[in-house]
Amino acid sequence: MSTRTLAVTDEIQDYLARVTVREPEPFRRLRAETATMENAGMQIAPEQGQFMALLVELLGARRALEIGTFTGYSALWVATALPPGGRLVCCDIERAWTDIAQRYWAEAGVAGKIDLRLGPALDTLDALLAEGAAGTFDFAFIDADKPNYDNYYERALRLLRSGGLVALDNALSDGRVAAPRPDDPKARAMDQLNRKICQDERVTCSLVPIADGLMLARKR
Ligand code: SAM
Ligand code: CA
Repeated sequence: MSTRTLAVTDEIQDYLARVTVREPEPFRRLRAETATMENAGMQIAPEQGQFMALLVELLGARRALEIGTFTGYSALWVATALPPGGRLVCCDIERAWTDIAQRYWAEAGVAGKIDLRLGPALDTLDALLAEGAAGTFDFAFIDADKPNYDNYYERALRLLRSGGLVALDNALSDGRVAAPRPDDPKARAMDQLNRKICQDERVTCSLVPIADGLMLARKR
């Protein structure tokens, strides 16, 4: 059928990973190291990283923003896709995780493109706005604490140039957004934000059902 999105079986998932992903060696080793950690499931999928790298290339992005870095895998894809002289501002609060990230960024030769800001992301975004960075970013990836997603979205929109793109991860929340239970505040909040973005006249949007769902919103 072509009138609905395919349900991804294990076989298709394996095909995506085996045949379609062109993943450099340090990326693969970072995934292997992260896989040994308790929070390994927070990392984005390789096919999603490659897709975001393609978006960054299509945008001709030079300045990018990441909210939620963890061990640095999504940042590797985005930073690698930026041209020489490009800059990715990474926001996180957990130094133990970003120490791992920095090792692999150095190994992949992109450390010089990444500006890591440790501290609550809202503070970092407000500082960027106060520094006069509104309208200067081409791409923003939101993948941190879900209750703040709407705050991150609003600030990202201000930081993006017209034509810039914001990508919000986990837009499908394991499918729970479709019928969020009253006792599932994360899914309810994501559902509310999906609805808001889809009605938001400031952006053109599409919820791409890759991995756990990636909401794309292009600033008009
Ligand atoms: N994008 C990462 C990747 O692909 O590996 C995964 C990010 S993980 C889902 C979420 C991250 O958000 C964690 O590393 C966590 O420390 C960070 N985080 C949580 N609350 C935060 C906050 N208030 N400000 C900044 N970062 C935060
Ligand atoms: Ca995520």
